[in-house]
Amino acid sequence: MFIGHFGAGFAGKKFSKSASLGTYFMAAQWIDLIWPILLLLGIEKVEIKTGISSVTPLDFTYYPFTHSLVGVLVWAILIGTIYYFIKKNYKTSIILGLLVLSHWFLDLLVHIPDLPILHGEGVKVGLGLWNSFAATLIVEGLIFTVGLYLYLKSSKAKNKTGNYSLLGLVIFLVAIYISNLIGPPPESAEAIGIVGNAQWLIILWAYWIDKNRESYD
Ligand SMILES: [Zn+2]
Repeated sequence: MFIGHFGAGFAGKKFSKSASLGTYFMAAQWIDLIWPILLLLGIEKVEIKTGISSVTPLDFTYYPFTHSLVGVLVWAILIGTIYYFIKKNYKTSIILGLLVLSHWFLDLLVHIPDLPILHGEGVKVGLGLWNSFAATLIVEGLIFTVGLYLYLKSSKAKNKTGNYSLLGLVIFLVAIYISNLIGPPPESAEAIGIVGNAQWLIILWAYWIDKNRESYD
């Protein structure tokens, strides 16, 4: 899942105004932000197997530190706790922790059974929406749209940049999503790691958007 996680990040702002959109994006996408780093370090593994599902050629053979249920719970608690110590905002800390956790449950919808529960081996789960190209597009598109709608309802632009920066990001995210869906498979795990790290730019972009918009209840 890609844009669905950003839909969850957008929705975060609806529930608490105090953190930046960039922070909500970071929480919702956290385990996919650190996954490329662990890939490049050789700690986690992915293989390219065209046809493994209708949507992605990636076979997630080993990624317990980022994508096991237990791993994601640890990250959720860690990120919520760190935010609490910095900002002393209990409600927002909980929301950020839940957003980190949301990633795993959204992935659960689409992944074929490759998400570990405890560690690399053992039980792996996934409801397999990726076996249907159309179902994936509909469900993920819906999650993204609802999240964006909630964000638009709870924030408004302070200036022109506040609108154009957001519009630009939405177009950019949809364009990446489409090119991932219809483009050629990546060359190697290393290439996935390198491209994946560019996602940090999306986080910075969201901080920039947030500076040019204001949120209200
Ligand atoms: Zn993921």
